[in-house]
Amino acid sequence: MLARIADAGEKWDFIVIGGGATGVGVALEAASRGYRIALLEQNDFASGTSSRSTKLIHGGVRYLQQGNVSLVLEALKERGILRRNAPHLVHDLPFIVPTYDWWEGPFYGIGLKLYDLLAGKEGFGPSEILSKEETVEKIPTVETHELRGGVIYYDGQFDDSRLVVNLAQTAVEQGGTLLNYMEVVKLIKKNDLVGGVIVRDLESGREYELKSRAVINATGVFSDRIRQMDDPVTPPFMRPSQGVHIVLDRSFLPGETAIMVPHTDDGRVLFAIPWHHRVLVGTTDTPVEDVSMAPLPMDHEIEFLLEHTARYLTKDPEPGDVLSMFAGLRPLVSGQQHLETARISREHTLSISRAGLITIAGGKWTTYRKMAEETVDQAIVVARLNHQPSVSETLQIHGYHHHAHQFENLKDYGTDALEIRKLVKNEPGWGAPLPGGSIVGAEVIWAVKAEMARTVEDFLARRRRVLFLDARAAMNMAPAVAELMAAELKKGIHWQKTQIESFRKTAYNYLL
Ligand SMILES: Cc1cc2nc3c(=O)[nH]c(=O)nc-3n(C[C@H](O)[C@H](O)[C@H](O)COP(=O)(O)OP(=O)(O)OC[C@H]3O[C@@H](n4cnc5c(N)ncnc54)[C@H](O)[C@@H]3O)c2cc1C
Repeated sequence: MLARIADAGEKWDFIVIGGGATGVGVALEAASRGYRIALLEQNDFASGTSSRSTKLIHGGVRYLQQGNVSLVLEALKERGILRRNAPHLVHDLPFIVPTYDWWEGPFYGIGLKLYDLLAGKEGFGPSEILSKEETVEKIPTVETHELRGGVIYYDGQFDDSRLVVNLAQTAVEQGGTLLNYMEVVKLIKKNDLVGGVIVRDLESGREYELKSRAVINATGVFSDRIRQMDDPVTPPFMRPSQGVHIVLDRSFLPGETAIMVPHTDDGRVLFAIPWHHRVLVGTTDTPVEDVSMAPLPMDHEIEFLLEHTARYLTKDPEPGDVLSMFAGLRPLVSGQQHLETARISREHTLSISRAGLITIAGGKWTTYRKMAEETVDQAIVVARLNHQPSVSETLQIHGYHHHAHQFENLKDYGTDALEIRKLVKNEPGWGAPLPGGSIVGAEVIWAVKAEMARTVEDFLARRRRVLFLDARAAMNMAPAVAELMAAELKKGIHWQKTQIESFRKTAYNYLL
């Protein structure tokens, strides 16, 4: 793929800047329609917001509360499409709203019936009002003081960064060129129109000039920086807001049912969700001024999460129980600078500048495909290309497998689990588990060979989710991962040392 972009004579149909859910979704949409596309990501795929979500593929019960029916309808439709096309990564999960006041049962019961109704044929299961006993049976650790019962409903759960990796692989299979660690440093203009980019390979330092018929800015919270590369006086439209999660041991919420709290003190929803044998609790909504690739949770956000979790569980989590914590930045778009971030619409914004730069921002993970479809439709017009219809609604995503449970520990890889097993067969040493026990060496080799992992963090944070699940466990694994990667990437001992040190620094920020 590097060789392809080095060929300066080539003109691309589209260049996409940004390798999160939005950019990779656009790359797949364009490649699957037969367009020539190059995607450039400055860090690793999904290393921005797209690996830091609540991991829900959902219509959004909260948006229903806000009366945004069209957003919920669209997201519920996309939820169904995604479960069909990526069943190895997206599955349904029961959620219970525990009720403590007399009015909550009927109130949330009716709201969630409406949610079922909007999902129609794409529903993941009918909602129901539960008695106190039924609620406790499903959530043995739920706070029982004054508990009246609960309302159960169903939504989708997934692994966000693994889906980005699989989407990127699908885009490559469809003919796309996608590269990580490539930073776009400048837009090229011809006759006042954006006609390409200058991109820097952050591994070699080499710069490339790429020409294209249209450039698509899918850089999430960094969108304004690219918009200002095009037009330095364009007013910013990004209103980033931070959301934090903490991860707890499974004993806080055993079983397979999540808790949904529809109204926290600051009027948000809060989830406690079983995820990869741990419990994910989140999130917050804190407006921030500065955007960074590594946002940090703030003390008051952690306190808020611990305090609210304690209200709904029998065992109160303490700071020492936090196995990992992480922050993500919502790429919210609003012209109204005074609006509270929790109130800004989660709908996406597609804009085209005077010079033809296309920016797609906002929205939700769940709706990435719909956002991509609209973006490519617009980009075709800007690029003056023939219109090819979208095929993504029925396109299976790399790893597609209906019976992923057959692969046990490797089930998130879908059909790639077979390839990983082949690696172990050829090189039995790669079958040995890494410290901690849940991951084998062959997965590291596979991540380098087939998933473009370039650093220890790429593996431990996004190809596998150890850093997000248990930061200390991830630190313990880092030396073994560095050794395996170094052999595969033909790097020396110095590279290993630097990688371990740099990973340790990153992992500290995931520890409370
Ligand atoms: C706390 C939180 C929880 C959420 N939970 C959910 C959920 O459960 N379900 C749901 O549907 N949605 C959820 N969302 C929303 C969802 O995560 C985001 O809408 C989505 O991930 C945004 O993806 P993106 O690709 O636009 O941005 P990003 O993932 O941030 O990708 C942008 C990329 O652009 C790259 N980039 C920037 N500048 C350059 C440059 N100059 N050159 C090259 N690359 C560049 C960055 O490195 C980055 O990787 C949540 C969001 C947050 C913050």
